[in-house]
Amino acid sequence: MNFACRCGYHFYDNSDNLSFKAHILADEDWNEFVGYLEDAEKPHTEKIENMGRSLDLLERCIYQCPECGRLFLESADGSLTMFTPNDTAEPEPDVNRHMLISSHGENWHGILSGWWEDPKPKWREYAGCVSVMMNEETAPAFHSNDYAETERQFHVIFEKLRAEDSIHYAAFHVYEQGGSRCIFSWNRPDTP
Ligand SMILES: [Zn+2]
Repeated sequence: MNFACRCGYHFYDNSDNLSFKAHILADEDWNEFVGYLEDAEKPHTEKIENMGRSLDLLERCIYQCPECGRLFLESADGSLTMFTPNDTAEPEPDVNRHMLISSHGENWHGILSGWWEDPKPKWREYAGCVSVMMNEETAPAFHSNDYAETERQFHVIFEKLRAEDSIHYAAFHVYEQGGSRCIFSWNRPDTP
């Protein structure tokens, strides 16, 4: 879902791990959700669609504008309702703009992504990119039109972030005509 805030900020909901988005669970659905978790824990032989059923219950989202703090709550029919965080219809200057970050808060471990696109899309300046996603920000760490250099920089940045224990996942993908290949992936130990 892509939409603009009243203040002009543009929401692009087109990737995972967005710091301005959360999934909500209605209290009316809470017992059903807990039931699915309990079913998943029991030994069973037949395939039970616990994950799909749980995700259906968590489908509705809430978004918060990182610029002005307004909230957008998604209804069951998919429509969005905007809430302004004060009683004068002007955004509160010191309201917390990051209420929807991970329940790990500032301790959320980030993600390192590297990719190479062959052929390079016309609208991209570079075929190779290394990007770091931390709480509330995504920064392109490196880009290049040299494959070997892109892969080398990915590993340099990966070793640095792993030593700092600041990421929970890293992956390098090569996108080619006909599909993509993951040529490197890493998960932080003890992180699902
Ligand atoms: Zn806004």
